[in-house]
Amino acid sequence: MRQSAPPQTFRVKSFGCQMNVYDGERMAELLADKGLRAAPEGEEADLVVLNTCHIREKAAEKVYSDIGRLVKAGNEAGRKPMIAVAGCVAQAEGEEIMARAPDVGLVVGPQAYHRLPEMIERVAKGERAADTDMPADAKFAALPKRRRAGPSAFLTIQEGCDKFCTYCVVPYTRGAEISRPFSDLLREAEILVEAGAREITLLGQNVNAWSEGEIGFDALIKAIARLPDLQRIRYTTSHPNDVTDGLIRAHAEEPKLMPFLHLPVQSGSDRVLKAMNRSHDADGYLRLLDRFRAARPDIALSGDFIVGFPGETEAEFEETLRLVDAVGYAQAFSFKYSPRPGTPAATMDGQVPREVMDERLQRLQAALNRDQLAFNEASVGKRCTVLVERKGKKPGQWLGKSPWLQSVFFEGEATIGDLVEVELAEAGPNSMAGRLLETIAA
Ligand code: SAM
Ligand code: SF4
Repeated sequence: MRQSAPPQTFRVKSFGCQMNVYDGERMAELLADKGLRAAPEGEEADLVVLNTCHIREKAAEKVYSDIGRLVKAGNEAGRKPMIAVAGCVAQAEGEEIMARAPDVGLVVGPQAYHRLPEMIERVAKGERAADTDMPADAKFAALPKRRRAGPSAFLTIQEGCDKFCTYCVVPYTRGAEISRPFSDLLREAEILVEAGAREITLLGQNVNAWSEGEIGFDALIKAIARLPDLQRIRYTTSHPNDVTDGLIRAHAEEPKLMPFLHLPVQSGSDRVLKAMNRSHDADGYLRLLDRFRAARPDIALSGDFIVGFPGETEAEFEETLRLVDAVGYAQAFSFKYSPRPGTPAATMDGQVPREVMDERLQRLQAALNRDQLAFNEASVGKRCTVLVERKGKKPGQWLGKSPWLQSVFFEGEATIGDLVEVELAEAGPNSMAGRLLETIAA
């Protein structure tokens, strides 16, 4: 690599899960803290960070095509940007990226991005830099204080995973499960609220596995809820095996904890769940949901599903459809199984043909869409709070979220960050129209 001037402007492009969005925000804060400016929309940046996702296929190909596009645009403009590949593809395929893409200056894994500034300096001197270490918990301590937050902010409280579901790369790309210290989290939550957040979503690969000694996840929720200007708390993604009585009770006792639960199940077939190493069965999952519903009758339920796991038969897939019918999800994510190199399922017998997966996914999504619309239709006439997150497309229109995480459009006097009361007036498949009643907190 040739020596180049240190970058003055940057852009971080994040793909994938909310934890990546959080990491992308933290990288942007770190770069801004070191004096770099975020490149305005439509302007070329001196440094581009591709914050990648490895959960499903084509992720790596997407990274290479993004790199190609950046290099081409740089050649045309006569100035190549410094390219950094971050995130889970960097962690899993860092060496290969360095070998295959000579225009990439640096590769940094999700647990090492606090070292970005030093790596950038090295690249500016003409070196190439790669760091895919997994130092437990060093990253957060090295990041700058948070300064700005929108009304709804993310806070990563837990990282990594020790569950080793047989299809999943997360334990390999994000490392072992760690919980961030309680006092650091309270401080970061406080800073987010001072910086404008009214809602905090606690994030983790298995967010409800968070603990510190005797302090469990429910106690953390209650402690954060005591921040006076914080109106709402959410959390994602939780794992059925880490649900505690305390967490279920928190949904009954803590008014700031929103009535929403994202609890992935993946399949309705016990044989498939076993082969996935999920260590819960379909019935146990349904009984857990019953307990959440008993604690908070209006709780909206969400889940994740994988169709076409190796060996999945038509009858086993139909068990998933039956589970969906039994739950009545308010929303859900569903995916075709994607073999991930290095995971046990990738070499299992009985890989399901693509056409079969396509057809199963269509049927599953039809059922999930039907239930989402039914949930929205059943909400018509309810009065609820909406946290205003942004302006809508029409003049005078605002967009926010209901307690059940529905997107709600309404018109009237409001501003971003307000908590308003609306009546839900009309249901669509993906959003609701509301009628503004009053502003509760500005
Ligand atoms: N830890 C969470 C859990 O256990 O559900 C979520 C982690 S993962 C980032 C989010 C979702 O991606 C999973 O719930 C699963 O449905 C999906 N996923 C993970 N690996 C996959 C694969 N190899 N193919 C298809 N979907 C996958
Ligand atoms: Fe992946 Fe399973 Fe861990 Fe979730 S629990 S991150 S699906 S290994």
